[in-house]
Amino acid sequence: MAIREVITVGHPTLRQVAAPVKKLTPELRTLIADMVETMHAYHGVGLAAVQVNEPVRVIVVEVPANEEIPGSGRLYVMINPVIVRRSRDTETDMEGCLSVPGYIGEVERARRILVRGFNEQGERYELDVEGYVARVFQHEIDHLDGILYTDRLTALDRLYPVEQGDEEAKELEKAQKAV
Ligand code: ZN
Repeated sequence: MAIREVITVGHPTLRQVAAPVKKLTPELRTLIADMVETMHAYHGVGLAAVQVNEPVRVIVVEVPANEEIPGSGRLYVMINPVIVRRSRDTETDMEGCLSVPGYIGEVERARRILVRGFNEQGERYELDVEGYVARVFQHEIDHLDGILYTDRLTALDRLYPVEQGDEEAKELEKAQKAV
């Protein structure tokens, strides 16, 4: 396993539509293991393969265990994820992105989603997730389509620089950063 470099805004791979995975190969398993290690190393709560410059449809999500966050405390690996259902009700909250360092912004997302994909064994599975975990899944799946959260801000002035010395913003970035 290895920690890979996370690419940042301006890198063309972030704007590519990632290719579906057709076969589980040893290289893919290595990529997934590296993505998990990289997510941990960067203190992220999610990572899409495109963020390590591999334009394939793979995401990992792991929100640290928190009693108030349903679905937290579990590592999800999803290959070729598809959102098959979204709740009509939405939530607006702050997001950050490892590929957009130094900023957080306000984004509206579906409160609950049903997402379908494959695990590392190639078995199809579905997840019904809500709240913050659903937000992270939506953020990561957007990455696979070349979309950044900054494209979805509730308003252009809802993007905030995380100033040095601004402890509140830093804490917020740490808490919400991700993804
Ligand atoms: Zn991101």
